[in-house]
Amino acid sequence: MAVLAPDLLYRDDAFYSGLAVEFNESTGRIARVAHRLELDAHDAVPLPGRALMPGFVNAHSHAFQRLIRGRTQWRPADTAVANFWSWREAMYSAALNLSPEDVYDVSRWCFIEMLRAGITTVGEFHYLHNAPDGRPYTDRAELARRVIGAAQDAGIRICLLNTCYAAGGIGQPLSHEQRRFDTGDVDTYVTMTEGLAADVVGQARVSVGIAPHSVRAVPREWIGMLHAFAATRDLPFHMHVSEQLAEVDACVGRFGLRPVELLDDEGVLDERFTGVHATHINDREVVMLAIGGGTVCACPTTERDLGDGFLRGADLLRAGAGIALGTDSQTMLDMFEEARLVEYNERLRRMQRVLLTRGAGDVLEVAPTLLRMATSAGARSLRVPAGALEEGALADFIGIDLDHPALAGWTAATLPAMLAFSAAPDVVSDVWVGGRNVVANGLHGRQEEGMRAFNAVAGRASGPGTHSAF
Ligand SMILES: [Zn+2]
Repeated sequence: MAVLAPDLLYRDDAFYSGLAVEFNESTGRIARVAHRLELDAHDAVPLPGRALMPGFVNAHSHAFQRLIRGRTQWRPADTAVANFWSWREAMYSAALNLSPEDVYDVSRWCFIEMLRAGITTVGEFHYLHNAPDGRPYTDRAELARRVIGAAQDAGIRICLLNTCYAAGGIGQPLSHEQRRFDTGDVDTYVTMTEGLAADVVGQARVSVGIAPHSVRAVPREWIGMLHAFAATRDLPFHMHVSEQLAEVDACVGRFGLRPVELLDDEGVLDERFTGVHATHINDREVVMLAIGGGTVCACPTTERDLGDGFLRGADLLRAGAGIALGTDSQTMLDMFEEARLVEYNERLRRMQRVLLTRGAGDVLEVAPTLLRMATSAGARSLRVPAGALEEGALADFIGIDLDHPALAGWTAATLPAMLAFSAAPDVVSDVWVGGRNVVANGLHGRQEEGMRAFNAVAGRASGPGTHSAF
């Protein structure tokens, strides 16, 4: 058993002094959170100047897209409009050139950067499956295993959301550019995913989930079958949903139903369901998502980068839906920013303040809601027992540097709001995953080696100004 005794500890939506956390280093679970005098003082490691809180859960990531950071913020002068669809062409171009070793190097660096920002679990929505020529690798899960290996070597917990991808649009074949995403027929996908799930059983920091890419990329009749597969194995079930108006229009045109209505019709909107984005949903769809007990995963830094639209955060919360957060395209890795944008976007839309509140009483606060989105809501979405400092939970937590200049003037009462609205990720000084200390004083042990390998891949990629630019 190990005991950490920080100056402050975040529990039940507030910071308290005097509490310590005891955890089992072999199981990687929290044994007890109690006053430090109740825990064995001999073992206690004091953490002066640190506040301990649950690690962040990043419920939606495409690690390889870290490579296109800085390479999509331009448009050819003869192109009138840049939007999601033109960005997607650039993303495809990056995806087509990566070897399995590149996928490992890019993913490992992305995960190291995540850890330094306090992310202890990543839901990796993985859809890069085949060789550059479009043929499956001998082991169809070759690239999924590379990504899992990268997570293990970085030290982050991963839920590999193995993505089923079979169509280029509703009722359309895959395009030549999408050849690396093709998972074949539904049986081939299930066999591949079963193999992966069987291999990771018993691995401490790895799990698997089911992820039909979207109503665009998977035939309607597969969605219910894949959900039944997820239910049988008790796995999370994630899909991109209604990110773009064109997707909604195509779905209505083909089926007479909007995407969330279609998913409701297929019976998949339950507690294991997570819909990613949901930026274009109507009142009826808000209620459908909430009644099912599922989660919406917002990715606001990506949604603003791509010009996707706003999340109806206040409506979803009021209806009872969970809201988790994802860094998606890795434009930036900052869970504080993801969280605060859910509130800020609502302020801009409604011209009001303090909207996403929790609890009752004299004062309604917004920071606890935002911090829950970044922690426990994501853990629930990925079906990982993390996101809170409590007995039995995974020992995934982060230390906040209370001497950081941005936090000067803190009190236990103001610290949640300071973090949620005013902190950058460099206030995170220390990170533990499954009780293992992977970031200490802001440094990750494989940072230099990881960055060098990533830079080598990035150096070979094309960029703005070249003909085949991203
Ligand atoms: Zn995505």
